Amino acid sequence: MSQSSWKDQIKKKWGPHSHCPICGKAMSTDKKLCSQACKDNYLNQERKQKKKSRMQCIFMIVMLVVMMLVMFVLPLAG
Ligand SMILES: [Zn+2]
Repeated sequence: MSQSSWKDQIKKKWGPHSHCPICGKAMSTDKKLCSQACKDNYLNQERKQKKKSRMQCIFMIVMLVVMMLVMFVLPLAG
C-alpha cells in the first residue's frame, strides 16, 4: 500500500522513464541503454553468455555420449 504511493511519487518526480540494465541509471524510455559505454558492456555480456550456453551444450552432448557408452558398451565388455 505504501509501496504504490512511493512509486507514484517517483513517477511524478521523474516522469516516464526506464532504467539502464547495465548501470541502473534512469534514462528516457525510448533508449535501450543509457550510453555507448553501457552498450559495449552489454554486448560483451551477451557474447560471454553465448559462449557459456555453447559450453553447456557441449557438456550436455559429452554427458550423453558417456551415458550411451556406459549403457551399451559396458554390458558388452562385461
Ligand atoms: Zn548505463
